[in-house]
Amino acid sequence: MNTQKQFKKQSAEKAHDQQHLLKIRKAIRTYDEKVAEMKQAQFIDWPAARKQAGQIKQYVLENWADLLEQFESNMKENGAEVLWAETAEQARQIFLEIADRHKAKKIVKSKSMTTEEIELNETCEANGIEVWESDLGELIVQLAGEKPYHIVTPAMHKSKAEISKLFHEKLGSVESDSAEELTMIARAHLRQAYVTADIGVSGANFLIADPGLVHITENEGNIRLTTACPPVHVVIAGIEKLLPRLEDLALFLPLLATSGTGQQLTGYNNLIRGPRAAGEADGPRKMYVILLDNGRSQLHADPKLRIALRCIRCGACLNACPVYKTIGGHSYQTTYQGPIGAVLTPQFRGIAEWHHLSDASSLCGACTQVCPVDIPLHELLLENRRQSDEQSNTSLFWKQSLKIWAVIMSDRGKLNAFHRAAANGAEAAALLLPHETGKRIPKLARQTFAQWWEENEQS
Ligand code: SF4
Repeated sequence: MNTQKQFKKQSAEKAHDQQHLLKIRKAIRTYDEKVAEMKQAQFIDWPAARKQAGQIKQYVLENWADLLEQFESNMKENGAEVLWAETAEQARQIFLEIADRHKAKKIVKSKSMTTEEIELNETCEANGIEVWESDLGELIVQLAGEKPYHIVTPAMHKSKAEISKLFHEKLGSVESDSAEELTMIARAHLRQAYVTADIGVSGANFLIADPGLVHITENEGNIRLTTACPPVHVVIAGIEKLLPRLEDLALFLPLLATSGTGQQLTGYNNLIRGPRAAGEADGPRKMYVILLDNGRSQLHADPKLRIALRCIRCGACLNACPVYKTIGGHSYQTTYQGPIGAVLTPQFRGIAEWHHLSDASSLCGACTQVCPVDIPLHELLLENRRQSDEQSNTSLFWKQSLKIWAVIMSDRGKLNAFHRAAANGAEAAALLLPHETGKRIPKLARQTFAQWWEENEQS
């Protein structure tokens, strides 16, 4: 079954799964309340804040090469090794070479969508390297043999009872309905991983060009342990994660925390400048930063779609999207789900195979409205559709129908004539068809709203 058919099949199943809908809507309702409250409490002028954040990210896109070089040279000066991967395959090879160099048999990992993108877990497992996920949500989906459901909250679709059962089956723990107890079970399970792993792997929320820092945000403290305890730390990050200056975090940290989880600030914010320096008592002895392109430069070369590279992966557009809220994260079968996933995936993995994701949108614009870096997501979905159409990925019937639709919609007289014909047709069909079928045909109003308005405007 091709990806489009699988998407339709899974979406239809999930849309009718009442249990699934209840869990997702409850989680998103809680998120919505917290975000609305925090926007009010924390920002005097939210639209101005997102505009400013958008402009900073736009500056990054316009000075991309220079900022990347600045980041690279500053990180090198701090003692980190910076490596460039053009494709996912190259990133995997670079990682395996590092693992081989350090004779790694076990890695501990923090949540990172970039490592999901390059399928690092599968690569490690296929090469005899054990992978321990240290983020609670990631650990849950790893134990369940699933992929992350959401870019911020990977196990959003699991209830407490399901997690308890999973821990009981996979970790041998006693079942519990207390979130605290379940967290403690995961914590006890993970503690040994930090001190026995050969490599700690993380992503990055921001790569700060000046003065050369990797920033990672979190709520569980697992990233601090993942990046500080093992003797080697490997960062795998997309090249769009840049911020020009350290001061920019003053805006981006509250913005990301508010949009991502409805928090003022996340519990921990890690700024990593390099490996352990001379005279320091702890920290990894070696640090590598793998900078991943994997389609980003190509996207950057497209003047209309480049703006998608502003994304800071807060997940707000997923939570606002009526399609995501109905079909859930797994139906997309991609690393990045929801509206941003529907923009990026066809560009990263090929429009011919993935254009259906851009089609699966009502274009309501809710995603655009909530995006903290001012990305016009619904316009980018339309641009993907246009590109798909240009590359002949749509059927002749659909193309001709759109042409006819454009002719009718661009002329009020033609639209009225079409409306009359449709109303007559519906009435005739209702009379001619068998009674049971005929009565289901909707009766179209004889008068259009525009005609009604013209008549009633004065009153
Ligand atoms: S596109 Fe905007 S709203 Fe969606 S994840 Fe990225 S930053 Fe957040």
